[in-house]
Amino acid sequence: MTLQNGSVISTQSCSGTADKNNNLRWDLSPEEIRHQTQRLILRIKQAYDTVGSLDIGKVCFENTLQVIANAKADYAASRHVLDFPQYVSPCKEVRVASTEADKCLSDFDVEVSMRADVFQRLIALQVNTAILEQLIELRARLAKLLGFSSHANYMLEMTMAKNSENVARFLDELYRRLRPVGEQERQYLLSLKEDDCERRDLDFDGQLYAWDMPYYMNQVEQVKFAVDKDKLIEYFPLEVVTEGLLSIYQDLLGLTFQQVEDAHVWHDSVKLYSVQDSVTGEEIGQFYLDLHPREGKYGHAACFGLQPGCLGHDGNRRMPVAAMVANFTKPTSSWPSLLQHHEVETFFHEFGHVMHELCSRTRYAEFSGTQVETDFVEVPSQMLENWVWEKEPLRRMSRHYKDGSPIPDCLLDKLIASRVANTGLMNLRQIVLSKADQTLHTKDRADTAAEFAKHSKDILGIPATPGTNMTASFSHLAGGYDGQYYSYLWSEVYSMDIFFSRFKKEGILNPKVGREYRRVVLEAGGSVDGMEMLKTFLGREPCQDAFFQCKGLTQTITEQNSH
Ligand SMILES: [Zn+2]
Repeated sequence: MTLQNGSVISTQSCSGTADKNNNLRWDLSPEEIRHQTQRLILRIKQAYDTVGSLDIGKVCFENTLQVIANAKADYAASRHVLDFPQYVSPCKEVRVASTEADKCLSDFDVEVSMRADVFQRLIALQVNTAILEQLIELRARLAKLLGFSSHANYMLEMTMAKNSENVARFLDELYRRLRPVGEQERQYLLSLKEDDCERRDLDFDGQLYAWDMPYYMNQVEQVKFAVDKDKLIEYFPLEVVTEGLLSIYQDLLGLTFQQVEDAHVWHDSVKLYSVQDSVTGEEIGQFYLDLHPREGKYGHAACFGLQPGCLGHDGNRRMPVAAMVANFTKPTSSWPSLLQHHEVETFFHEFGHVMHELCSRTRYAEFSGTQVETDFVEVPSQMLENWVWEKEPLRRMSRHYKDGSPIPDCLLDKLIASRVANTGLMNLRQIVLSKADQTLHTKDRADTAAEFAKHSKDILGIPATPGTNMTASFSHLAGGYDGQYYSYLWSEVYSMDIFFSRFKKEGILNPKVGREYRRVVLEAGGSVDGMEMLKTFLGREPCQDAFFQCKGLTQTITEQNSH
């Protein structure tokens, strides 16, 4: 690629290295390596200069992102001819020249990634902002046509919260309670930053910015909680976790799982299990476990409902079937598959959805399993995440991969204590996002960047970075969570109430409570309102106290505030 008078000529026409054939050259002399490195840097720098010097009012996709994409394609195709010989060339001089080239190019990588002029032109594009703001206007118009006062109220009609006033009350109450702990955490981050600035001889202006947050929050985990993640992972081999997890779910819910031999599956590594009621022996459903990555497979962890547990046209019950799909590394004969603790949590969470599908005994398909209110669907799965923060189940799911020894108590204690790391700030951020979503969807039109900036400053105490618009990459707003982002916090509050008020009190592995939970919550699917199920299972109105207890915030009885 070359740039002449600002116009871009395609990579193929000039450099030759991007040809569809393999034209990589391994006979470059040290002098040629040095020369080509400088030429490559110059070419790429010219492309970035072109973008960086554009009139900000005239930016478009073609003269910014496309130019950079072409430059990156050229760079990727040209770099390795220069930096790879350092590892393999038989000639010492070539290896030295290649090592130098690698260093030059690495310095250049840092330089181009920090170009403020290019950054300003890219954020000036604001393509998503225009789309999102148009979407907000159209949604508001549609809601009005359907007789709703706002898009949020249209979306909320079929949820537990029912309307935007209830969501606002819920978020305000959470904010009131979380603000003090958030403030303490902010002060602590500031003190870390002050020390850091002093050590590095930098000016300290007493402010935390958006870009400081991940860096100092990570430091808090290391300084305050000191969980040795490298050590911890050695105690969670996938087979041990799977065996422990399945046995906990069986004991808790009164079920028996049996692997089906020679089952009809879509890949050799997939296993099918039959699920029976452990008292009656009746087969109530089946689930697949597809746990390892492979070419072309879905890249995240999720539960897929495949057949609903409802009545058929003949009045007979259909067998519910679901699949858990995940991407845990496959163990080999020489190396085990070891899970990070957060992966164990994900496994527990998704399997909670599988059980919601499998235990379903509804009349109609449209209410079976996880087909419940959006702000209730995560309650059962989030509730079950609590088991990976308790000693007894953690011991059942772990063993050292080498000698089978149990996980040391001190490691467990540190892990469990770390659950509250940065909890105030992380939850306040969820409130910011929930409030931004609600504000945007209760208006006829909105300045999306300004609305987010206001909530970020007011609630989190962190100013939005000037010239950016977080909502333009807030994919939930265009991915089915519009007006409903609060559901994550809402579900968590109620899942904590269930866990602390029943399981933690009566025994986290108490089969009596587990069976009652299966009958009242899991079997009903969406055929009963979430709030009704909660009241039946709790024996009272649900409240927020357990959520705060879990976040390390306790309160006196007189302050208690039921929701
Ligand atoms: Zn989930």
